[in-house]
Order: sequence, then C-alpha cells, then structure tokens
Amino acid sequence: MEPQEIAEQVRLCAGCPKMCRHRCPTFFAWRSDSPTPHGRALLIHYENTETRDIDSRGAEVLYQCLQCSQCLTWCLPGVDIAEIVESMRKSLVSRDLQPAGLNSLRESIESHHNPFREDHDERNQWLGVETQEKTDIIYFAGCTSSYREKEIARATVSLLHHLNYSVQVAPDEWCCGSPLVRTGFEEASKRVAQHNADLLNSLDADEILVTCPGCYKTLTNDYADYGINLNKPVVHLSEFLEHRLDSLPKTDFETNLTYHDPCHLGRHSEIYDAPRSVIETVTGKEVVEMDQSRENAMCCGNGAGLRTLFPDYAHKIGKERIRQAKETGAGILVSTCPFCKNMLNAEADYDLEVLDLSELVEFARSREFKSA
Ligand code: SF4
Ligand code: SF4
Repeated sequence: MEPQEIAEQVRLCAGCPKMCRHRCPTFFAWRSDSPTPHGRALLIHYENTETRDIDSRGAEVLYQCLQCSQCLTWCLPGVDIAEIVESMRKSLVSRDLQPAGLNSLRESIESHHNPFREDHDERNQWLGVETQEKTDIIYFAGCTSSYREKEIARATVSLLHHLNYSVQVAPDEWCCGSPLVRTGFEEASKRVAQHNADLLNSLDADEILVTCPGCYKTLTNDYADYGINLNKPVVHLSEFLEHRLDSLPKTDFETNLTYHDPCHLGRHSEIYDAPRSVIETVTGKEVVEMDQSRENAMCCGNGAGLRTLFPDYAHKIGKERIRQAKETGAGILVSTCPFCKNMLNAEADYDLEVLDLSELVEFARSREFKSA
C-alpha cells in the first residue's frame, strides 16, 4: 500500500467510533484500547501528522496485530488494517524498530530455512518413501507440516497416492517466506521467494499442491507482488479435493463436526466452500457452524508472529476459539492449516479432537478400506 493511501485510511479511522474492536481478537486478549484496529491506526496517524513518532512501545502495538482482517469485515469505510500493519512493519524493520524477539526468527529462516531452528537436512524425514522425479504433483509441504505436524504431510501424500496421483517433494524446499513477509523482513523474504521459485520452476510436474494457507497466500500473492513468477498453478488441498468429490472415501462418523476457517484461506483467499464440501462428502454430515464462521471466523491466535512474541496472549485467543468450537457440541474440529491445527490442538482437551482436512479424509479412506 502506498504511503498516501495509508495516510488517508488512518485519518478516516482516527475519527471513527471504533466499534470494530469488539471483533478484534487482540482486543479480546489484552482488553486494552492500544492493540485494536483504531489504536494501531492512531499511532500511524500521529506519526504522519508529526504529532508523535512511533517508538518501541508503538512498534510493539503494531506487532500485536494478527493481520487476520477480521476488522475489515466490520469496517464500513474499508480500512485495511492488516495490510497497513504489514506495510508499516517494513518501515519499522528499516528503522530497526522491530521487537528483538523477531531477529532470531529471521536468522533461523535464513540459516536453517525454517523458523524452528531445525536441521534443514531433516526437513523431509517425515516422507519415508522415495518420490519420483516426473510427477503429476509437487507437494510443497511447508515448515509446520515438515517439522511439527508431520501427520498432515504423511496423510496428504498417502491420500494423493490412493487417488492415483504421482507426487514429488522437493529435497531443497525452503520456508515459503510467509513469517518474513508478515513481520516486515522484505529483503530476506525476497531471497527465499527467489530460491523456491527457481526450484519449483525447475521441477517436472503439472501443479504445486499446498496444505498450508500461509504457503498458499505467499506463493500465489506475495511472490507475484515481487515479480517472481511460478510456471505451474498452485492449489490448496481443499480445492484439489473439491474437484474430485466423487473419488473421495465415504464413511460414517458418530460425532458431529465443526470447521475453523484459517484467515489466510478464508478472508484472505475467499476459499470457504471447498473444505466444507469435502467434509460433508466424506462424512455424510452437515458441518455444524460456529457462531463466528466463514468471513466472521475468529483467528486461532497463531498468526503474523504473535505466538513468537506474545505466546500467552496467542494461547488465550486459541483457547477462546476452542471454546467456540465446543459450544457447537461437535466432537471433531477440522481445519485446513497446519499452523491453526498446532495452536488449536494445544488448547483442546479430550472433548474435542482437532484434525486437519488431510487427516480426516485419510482416516475415512483407511476406515473404508478396512470395512471393504
Ligand atoms: S478499522 Fe474501520 S471500523 Fe475500525 S475504527 Fe478504523 S475506521 Fe472504524
Ligand atoms: S487484523 Fe485482526 S488482530 Fe489486527 S487489528 Fe484487525 S482484527 Fe485486530
């Protein structure tokens, strides 16, 4: 977003009755007027009008935003706080005003190619099988499925094989760069984007499949914004499966299921129906919706560096999302994001099982196979 447009939007926001804060998950977590859409806009407006420069405390408030875009669904003038925050974070990094806790995240992605300081050589250990070199699909697994939620990666490859697709996983896949883009490290994110684009463009396959909406948004939007183009289409697993509903396994589920819309897949990519169609086809049950669903879904709390910098507040948001899921009476909460699953699973207990869509469909397939 250009500085002039940012200035106009924050000026509008500075004079608003700011009721959108009741939809902001960080207002819910902090219960303070600073970490709200209006609080963040005011900081930028003060700097633009030379009333007060953003200092380290102001920078902290701008890094307390999840960039979930929930406020945008409420905001009549259409002030895009998530995008404004993302632009401002680049400016803060250029002034070395980013919270110190983010420097090790950037350093880990630059030296280990993942944000978890894990060994890059172990990235594809989850795979367990050799992949072919010329295939229908390249599976871009992403960091969370490669190191923290390996069952999502395994279920995805197994599922694709059973649907008769050949799959390869790039041996030198790096972090997609999403954590760098969202936290303002633009130059570092461009280096990562160029590496992954060169790699993916060199591989022989028809399409690139992702299970992480963060990877999806970064590969489809941010790489293109950098002028870095991929020579194959990128598809999220939920869309891929939605086009193959007739081939999906079908099995009875004793319990009801609810669905959590990840911000990057829902509000940011407008993919709401595909995961629901897959769940309903596989289970034969209608998704029981939470009060806050689709474009009004609450963020899980795990985005845009919040869990790295403010873990207690991030978990408070995750806990609230689990409370909302339990209110539906469902026994299974499905999501389509390894990052969301990681957070929601940490807050769930024995009353509610948290599954990624890949795991749900793979579970149905194995059950159908056993009963055949
Ligand atoms: S984000 Fe929109 S609704 Fe919220 S305070 Fe600003 S102008 Fe008002
Ligand atoms: S993007 Fe999300 S966390 Fe950030 S101000 Fe808007 S509602 Fe709050």
